Amino acid sequence: MAELIILGTANSIPSVEHANTHMAVRSRSGTILIDCVSTPVIRLERAGIALDDIQDVILTHFHPDHVSGVPLLLMNMWLLGREVPLRIYGLNHCLKRIEDMMSFYQWENWPEFFTVSFHRLPETEAEVVLQNDELRILSSPVHHLVPTIGLRFESSTSGRHIAYSCDTEPCDEVTRLASGAEILIHEATGRSPGHTSAAQAGEIAARAEVGQLLLIHYPVHPAVNPDLVHQAGESFQGPVSLAEDFMHIPLE
Ligand SMILES: [Zn+2]
Repeated sequence: MAELIILGTANSIPSVEHANTHMAVRSRSGTILIDCVSTPVIRLERAGIALDDIQDVILTHFHPDHVSGVPLLLMNMWLLGREVPLRIYGLNHCLKRIEDMMSFYQWENWPEFFTVSFHRLPETEAEVVLQNDELRILSSPVHHLVPTIGLRFESSTSGRHIAYSCDTEPCDEVTRLASGAEILIHEATGRSPGHTSAAQAGEIAARAEVGQLLLIHYPVHPAVNPDLVHQAGESFQGPVSLAEDFMHIPLE
């Protein structure tokens, strides 16, 4: 049964209870990791996800709080004897820098390293990133400080759709990406260039006519502000809640 597992919920400054925002989509055909931060193996172990179960990694943009874990993930997979290939999807801006970052680690000299393939996504709306019997994942460019994609997860068995804004300021692309989805997972970093406040996320949720709003990528220092839910609820009439680390969201 397909599900989305939230692996982190913090904005760029994590805490013990809140890792940087990243997540995984689990289905019968394997697990897809969405962004890769800090020491990925620890979070994945706690979520009960085996490294060999991950065949696909989607990277939303090249900021440290979204991709800093990639070198360690690849190295750990290699040292654990991985043989199956790994596919990494993202915009050229991000993947080019991932390749540069790995070349600093001279990964071409890692003996018997498994195959990693890069899949460059066009910077256009509603691009199919990948598709299997159970689900389809679409990407759309959003408005952040560097080229960034938001995602939409669509279950082909249940028809349930979940949209994820990623890091962005309010924009029509996110509204269209989320249009009519059962759940919108929207960032709530705060009102600043390239980001969105909880109140603005509520406005987007209302405009996209989603069923439910889940706030993510929110400030956790000094503490999570419980008013975020209230602020989003001022313009959105549906249920609003805060995403929490290790939350499971059914896709079916
Ligand atoms: Zn960012």
